[in-house]
Amino acid sequence: MTIDNYKFAGKKAIVRVDFNVPLNENGQITDDTRIRGALPTLKHILNEGGALIIMSHMGKPKGKVNAKYSLSQIVDAVSAALGVKVQFAPDCAKAKAQADALKAGEVLMLENLRFYAEEEGKPVGIEKEDPAYEEAKKAMKASQKEFAKTLASYADCYVNDAFGTAHRKHASTAVIADYFDADNKMLGYLMEKEVQAVENILNNIKRPFTAIMGGSKVSTKIGIIENLMNKVDNLILCGGMTYTFAKAQGGHVGNSICEDDKLDLALDIMAQAKAKGVNLVLGVDSVCGDKFANDANQLICPSNAIPEGWEGLDAGPESRKLFTKAIEGAKTILWNGPAGVFEFDNFTGGSRAIAEAVANATDNGAYSLIGGGDSVACVNKFGMADRVSYISTGGGALLEAIEGKVLPGVAAIKGE
Ligand code: AMP
Repeated sequence: MTIDNYKFAGKKAIVRVDFNVPLNENGQITDDTRIRGALPTLKHILNEGGALIIMSHMGKPKGKVNAKYSLSQIVDAVSAALGVKVQFAPDCAKAKAQADALKAGEVLMLENLRFYAEEEGKPVGIEKEDPAYEEAKKAMKASQKEFAKTLASYADCYVNDAFGTAHRKHASTAVIADYFDADNKMLGYLMEKEVQAVENILNNIKRPFTAIMGGSKVSTKIGIIENLMNKVDNLILCGGMTYTFAKAQGGHVGNSICEDDKLDLALDIMAQAKAKGVNLVLGVDSVCGDKFANDANQLICPSNAIPEGWEGLDAGPESRKLFTKAIEGAKTILWNGPAGVFEFDNFTGGSRAIAEAVANATDNGAYSLIGGGDSVACVNKFGMADRVSYISTGGGALLEAIEGKVLPGVAAIKGE
């Protein structure tokens, strides 16, 4: 079923959203992007004459009630965003009466799902090494099903619009779907957009395809790099990983971030690229600092000849030219991870050059997907968010999808 085809009139819809918004010490929302992201789905259901039961997690309360993570703090903001007074259920597992009383156009928000350990389905207070762990895990899986069944009992249909948690097999993101038949469960608009964006990058590729992987470490990106290697024409590897590659080839990287136990892996990636005909683009020069700080003294030098006492903190001017060349002619672009320590204003040049090249290529008709927290922060910092095709809201979920893994939250609905 799709959200556009479903007849919500007179029905109750339970919608999993990602309202895990950042709050300040006074419980005020500091960034409401996630609430705004869910509005098209929520408003559509109300406009079609449905009643809404909204459910989400917030933070990591680890199965215990904790006022710091109470969703009661955001009820007013959600009411304002929806233009409807939102009712609140202070115990998400005991909300049946409130749900039953809901009328068309009304909204009920459940308290934080993760106040129950059943949401995540991991046994609490017992270590994996404990001989009783497997038994505890089995018992927890059984009570997770009961918890999901209770949530399902509140509504006629289930909508999942929480892409940020789609890579988790939790009660509200996946298990609950077992209690609805295929005609009564669907993805929300945000999820549909995210799934389509991944589809464009993995299966609907216009060539040339350039992927830009940055960030700090090659070890955390290896699954994605290996999957992309089978798809891309150009693969730019930048940021902190530059120095693992430079050292693997016999270079000197001074104090730069470097994974000494991943040198063979770096050489293997280079060999794979060669074998597959992928144009692997590595930075050739770096802007170095004499300390890890914004006000460090700067030195531009080859990335494989960094003097002791200096560390590479950004891509240098020659690297930026190489990156730009590989991006500007592309028709499909994926960018994850900055080209330097972009949090320091004096070391943003490499990431800015990439953002500009991506925006220019998009102006020329490329499809560009930006995902993973830091690269999103980059395009926002440079004011280029409206010059790229799509900015993903999912960190881990997006990365797992690009690795080629099936997302439980999507599979539970689409049955894949
Ligand atoms: P990741 O979470 O792996 O995507 O890494 C993002 C982080 O990588 C950002 O916080 C950047 O500051 C950091 N980063 C990028 N380039 C470098 C570098 N040359 N040295 C140290 N950290 C870096």
